[in-house]
Parts: sequence; structure tokens; C-alpha cells
Amino acid sequence: MPVPLLDVNAQNLPLEAELKAVFDSVLRSGRFILGEEVEAFERECAAALGAKHAISISSGTDALIVALMALDIGPGDEVLCPSFTFFATAGSIARTGATPVFCDVCPVCFGLDIDSAKAKLTPRTKAIVPVHLYGQSADMDSVMAFAKEHGLKVVEDVAQSFGATYKGRGCGTIGELGCFSFFPSKNLGGFGDGGLVTTEDDALAEKVLRLRNHGMHPRYYHSMVGGNFRMDALQCALLRVKLRHIKDYEAGRSRNANYYLSRISELPGVVQASEADCCCPAGQAARLAGARLVLPVAYRHNGHVWNQFTLRVPGEGRRDALKAHLTALGIGCEIYYPVPMHRQECFAKLPAHSLSDCPVSDLLASEVLSIPVFAELRQEQLDEVAGALASFLS
Ligand SMILES: *Cc1c(COP(=O)(O)O)cnc(C)c1O
Repeated sequence: MPVPLLDVNAQNLPLEAELKAVFDSVLRSGRFILGEEVEAFERECAAALGAKHAISISSGTDALIVALMALDIGPGDEVLCPSFTFFATAGSIARTGATPVFCDVCPVCFGLDIDSAKAKLTPRTKAIVPVHLYGQSADMDSVMAFAKEHGLKVVEDVAQSFGATYKGRGCGTIGELGCFSFFPSKNLGGFGDGGLVTTEDDALAEKVLRLRNHGMHPRYYHSMVGGNFRMDALQCALLRVKLRHIKDYEAGRSRNANYYLSRISELPGVVQASEADCCCPAGQAARLAGARLVLPVAYRHNGHVWNQFTLRVPGEGRRDALKAHLTALGIGCEIYYPVPMHRQECFAKLPAHSLSDCPVSDLLASEVLSIPVFAELRQEQLDEVAGALASFLS
């Protein structure tokens, strides 16, 4: 039985009648840019995330760019971010004219390793962009303490973690700004591109609002150079329908992740990563000695929302062997991400300290494999995936 990595129709088609009604309503309203639907979506996102301000933006990538622009990040500045992330984290920094400086990550939670960030600090460092990868928060206490000590601004990349929490606080509400994505594969998956910026700061919210619309205020008066970073009213209206179900989607992915964690952990050679090894590659390596498959771990103080369920497959060539095995059985899987940022061709000319010393990022890029965890997976599909992993390990 084929099992796709993600089936957006399984989530969207049950809402078909409601979505079509919303489309009709926006069509008849004749209002397609900003307006009531956009404002309602932003209010509902703010409430869902526990954020004071939520401002819809054209994409997750644009959300990062606007957030950095709101902090006046630009040429001459350095911005710390993890090397092991999706390109947009680093690309957005570069597009402001600032220099991305790549830090290593924790092999357990996949978040930014603050010791690596400390080693890369220079007098030009202005901000840090922790990424909450795969649905789990980065270690925000250490990020915030480090940022405070050195006067850095914090922009959280929450693209993969809508709804995730850290010690009871919503991811995206801890740093100066939070950046979310509604790309169809994200936790609140849209019908095209969309994004969101959150902040607790009234002045920053005002600035993001202005930057989103050409830096214009009042009409046709421009005190700053912004752009067109608006999200469509239609997209907002459609996503309001899905936002009402966000807790069900979260619960579905959690249920599937927990099923894997209990079912796969019984297989020979399988070890679960341990929170005790957080940011300690040596400790983790000792624990994993001889492991053939490493399961991810949700930290006790984190509300993990499982955008991805990501295995590590140690041993030369073993990850690619598992990928081939699953693919041959019709089971969707993907490598998020095969090339860390410090190895990307477009960044090859960055200063040496941007590109140095990211051994964990290199290791993860060679070991990770994400398997289907979307909320609508049926039990027989989960069994199929677990069975395929068993046959790989046997
Ligand atoms: C998806 C993603 C983005 C970019 O979001 P888009 O809406 O696709 O522009 C940024 N950062 C991370 C970590 C992502 O996964």
C-alpha cells in the first residue's frame, strides 16, 4: 500500500463545501486586498498563538525579510542562524544585505547550539535567528540569555512550528519577532503562499504593518522603503476555515508520532535520542554507539507539534539505503535537508567564520530522513511504514 509523505487533499477535501462558500463570499465582497478577512485572520492567529500582534505577510520567507527590515538589519550587520535549516532562513538574512553567520545545531533537538553562536560573535553581530525545526522549539532560554548579554535582537523562525510551545509560551512570542509560514506542507497549510509576523512590541508591529505596504503612511506618504508583502484576502479567508481545526491536526500528528515512538522503539538497533544529551554531541555519540536508527525526542518542557517526524540513520550510506527501501515500497520520505547552509554554493564567498565549524550540521545532513506523520494517516498506513522500517532493520 503506497503511503504519501503528505496528502493535502485528505485534510482539505473534507472542508470542501465550507471552503467553496468562503470563496463565494470573498468573490461577492469584491475586496481582495487587506480588509475584514485579513484583519479577522490576524486576530484569530494572534489568539491561537498567544501573541499580542499578528500581521499576515505574503510568505514565510517574506515574513523573515520584513522582520529583519523592521529591526533595521542591513549591510555591515552580521546575523547568526543555524546552518542546518531550510534555505529561507539564511537567504532572507542575505537579501537584507546583512551577512548570515552559520552556527552549528544540537544533534538532539535540532535547534541552534548556543556555544557555537558564542564562538561566532563579532562586534558586527546584530541579531540571531533561532529556528524551531520540525515542530519543536529551540532552546529559547539560552538564546534569550545570550541575546540579552550581547544586545542582540531575536527573530524566531517558526515556519515549521505553528502552535509549538516552549515552557508554556508560544513559539514566536519569545523573541522580538516570530515568523510563520502557511506553505501547504506547514502545520497550518494554505492554498498557495502565505506567512505571518508576530510581536509583543507595539512599535515593531506598527513598523511591520507599514513595511508590508510600501512603507506607506498615510496614503502616498513614504517615510521608509517597504514593499508589497501583503497576503491575499482570499487566502486569509480560506485559512480561517482551517485554523478552526488546528488543534485536531496537531492531535493527529502527535498521535502518529507517539505511535511510531512506541512501535519503532521495539525494533532491533533502534535508540531514542535523549534530552539529557541536548547540545552535547559527544554524550549523544556515546549513547548512540551501535544504533542503526535514532528516534526523535519531544522535550518535556516543549509542546512539540510534529511538522516532521525525522529519523537519523547512522552509518555510511545507510540513510540513502533506507530512503531507497521506503521508496521502493511506495512510502514517501524526504531528506530535510541534504546540504547545510555553510556548504551552499551561493554562500561560498562569505567570511571564513560564517562557514566554519558546523560538524553536527554536516552529520545530520548525511543522516536525517523524514517519514509520513500527517494528521490524516490511517492506522494501516502507519502499520505499513512501521513494517517497512522493521524489514529494513531485520
Ligand atoms: C518553509 C520555511 C520557510 C519559508 O516559508 P515560505 O512560506 O515557503 O516562504 C522559512 N524557514 C523555514 C525553517 C521553513 O521551513
